[in-house]
Amino acid sequence: MTRILSEILNQNELTKEDIVLLLNLNNPSDLSLLFEKARNIRDQYCGAKVFFRGLIEVSNICKKNCLYCGIRSGNKAVLRYDIPENEIIETAKTAWDNGLAAIVLQSGERTDKAYIDKITNILKAISSYTQKGMRVTLSLGEQKKDTYKSWKEAGADAYLLRIETSNPGLFRKIHPDNRFHRFENRLQALEHLKESGFQVGTGVMIGLPFQTIEDLADDLLFMQKIDVDMVGMGPYLEHQETPMFSIRNHLKSENERLLLTLKMYAVLRIIMKDINIASTTALEAISPDGRIQGIQAGANVVMPNITPVKYLGNYMIYHNKAVSKVEMTETLEKAKKSVEKSGFEPVLNVRGDSLHWIEKKRTF
Ligand code: SAH
Ligand code: SF4
Repeated sequence: MTRILSEILNQNELTKEDIVLLLNLNNPSDLSLLFEKARNIRDQYCGAKVFFRGLIEVSNICKKNCLYCGIRSGNKAVLRYDIPENEIIETAKTAWDNGLAAIVLQSGERTDKAYIDKITNILKAISSYTQKGMRVTLSLGEQKKDTYKSWKEAGADAYLLRIETSNPGLFRKIHPDNRFHRFENRLQALEHLKESGFQVGTGVMIGLPFQTIEDLADDLLFMQKIDVDMVGMGPYLEHQETPMFSIRNHLKSENERLLLTLKMYAVLRIIMKDINIASTTALEAISPDGRIQGIQAGANVVMPNITPVKYLGNYMIYHNKAVSKVEMTETLEKAKKSVEKSGFEPVLNVRGDSLHWIEKKRTF
């Protein structure tokens, strides 16, 4: 295996068969080779650096009802919140003053005018306070193309919209059967984001019930085909108050999902060398050093949660979500220390735009 493996790892292009083989690796020495290769590529193309994005969970109000998600509209047990505009702006300013040059605004999906305007105002305020210095990523679900364009104009730089799974059949299984939860809409939204000038990110959940290794290989090839600039993907974790909880006996163990996620990061790094890959928080729900393991497998971005403490704990998309109720400076200090301890350089005061995107702009 080792000989064939080193040949595969040295190829310029990977076929679906190659990817399936890599995702099926289980022997520790084979896995070391895979992760080492991914790390070397990351170091060569992006540096041995880890970029920071402060994550603000703006609101857990959502009009959608995805069958896997703890804050789906059908879950009446959730205490809903919506952080006021001025508090979000203050949080972003504090982040900037503490050396965070990039933030992510994430929330449940809302498309009403009041919400769209609120986001626009926040973007304008951040843009003006930081003189366009702060990199703002949005993760606010499917919106009209005009909304994407207006948010881009108001100062947003990047947008993360996970396809969740590139298998339309599996997508149908994990979403309610209605016109608001359609695979085609999600694809079109990704297209609109690209046309609106965003650095575009997508991602999938790893270890979904009925998901095969072939599906995951297709997910990676999908990311390559649509030529994304960044990826945020992580393990699927069940939540008690969701319809999918009833089929949890179809799941791989949490440790298997963690390992599979690490292999997905590594293979993605090999096929898309200069994109930003986030080591997601969901890994930490499985293992305390999950995010560091993600970096060691080729990821180069972490997203410490800087949601104001009084709102923390209600954005429970999956069970066991790690929330530490400490102020921003302490959160950042801890995240910095853990990155340093693992031998990587935490980079603050830097936007950390996708090199892939910068390179694309240069060549056109
Ligand atoms: N509402 C927006 C953004 C917030 S949800 C959207 O859906 O695009 C962000 C991500 O959380 C989703 O894309 C999904 O991949 C992830 N997520 C939701 N429920 C999850 C679960 N049970 N386990 C792991 N990830 C989950
Ligand atoms: Fe809403 Fe996003 Fe959760 Fe779906 S995944 S229910 S859109 S927050």
